Amino acid sequence: MEMDYPGNLYVVAAPSGAGKSSLVKALLELDSRLMVSVSHTTRAPRGQERHGREYWFIGQDEFRAMIDRGDFFEWAEVHGNLYGTSRAAMEARLSQGEDVVLEIDYQGALQIKQIFPTAVLIFILPPSWDELRQRLLRRGEDAGEVIEQRMVNARHEVAQARHFDYVVVNALFETALFDLKAIVHAQRLKWAAQRRSRSAVFDALQLN
Ligand code: 5GP
Repeated sequence: MEMDYPGNLYVVAAPSGAGKSSLVKALLELDSRLMVSVSHTTRAPRGQERHGREYWFIGQDEFRAMIDRGDFFEWAEVHGNLYGTSRAAMEARLSQGEDVVLEIDYQGALQIKQIFPTAVLIFILPPSWDELRQRLLRRGEDAGEVIEQRMVNARHEVAQARHFDYVVVNALFETALFDLKAIVHAQRLKWAAQRRSRSAVFDALQLN
C-alpha cells in the first residue's frame, strides 16, 4: 500500500566512511524542523552509544518478533546485523506534518521508495576510493581486514546511487552540508508543501 503524509521524509544513505552521520548531525543542528528517527538494531552498542539515543538495541528474537508483527516500515541485514525502522517512530511525526530524516542503508532506502514514493532519497558519495579508504583509516574504528571488507561493500553500495533522487559528493564538508540544506529547502517549496505552510497566501489568492 502506498502512503502519503503531510510531513517530508528524507532518506540518507552512503557507504561507511563517506561522512553520512556527521553531515546528518550538522543538518539536524541547523534545522529544528527536522527530526531523526531512531532505528532498532541487533548489533551491540559501541563506545558511548545509549539505548534509545543512537539505536534501540534489541536481541535477534525480539527483532524477528517485530518483523512478524509488521512493526517495521523497512528492515535489512547490514554487515551481519539486523537494522529496522519502526512504523511507530516515523508515522506519528509525518502524519502531524513534521519532517523526518532516516539515516539507513541503501536496501532500506529502496524499500521506503516503494511504499512511500514521495520520500526524498539522498545518496552521499565519497570524492574517490582513495579518500574513502583514508577516512576509514583515520576513523581508527576498524581493523585492517574490516576496512577492506567495507571497501568491497562500498563498491556495491555506490552502484545503487543511480536509484536515488539526489546525489551529494562529500569532498568538502561545508559544501556537502550546503547541498543537503538545498535539497531540504527545495522540497519545502513544492506546491503541496507551500499549500500547507503558506495557506493564508493561497487562500488570499484563491488557489486551491
Ligand atoms: P552502524 O552499525 O555503523 O551504526 O550502521 C551500519 C549501517 O546500517 C549504516 O549504513 C546505517 O545507516 C544502516 N542503518 C542504520 N539504521 C538502519 C535502519 O533502520 N534500516 C536500515 N536498512 N539500515 C540502517
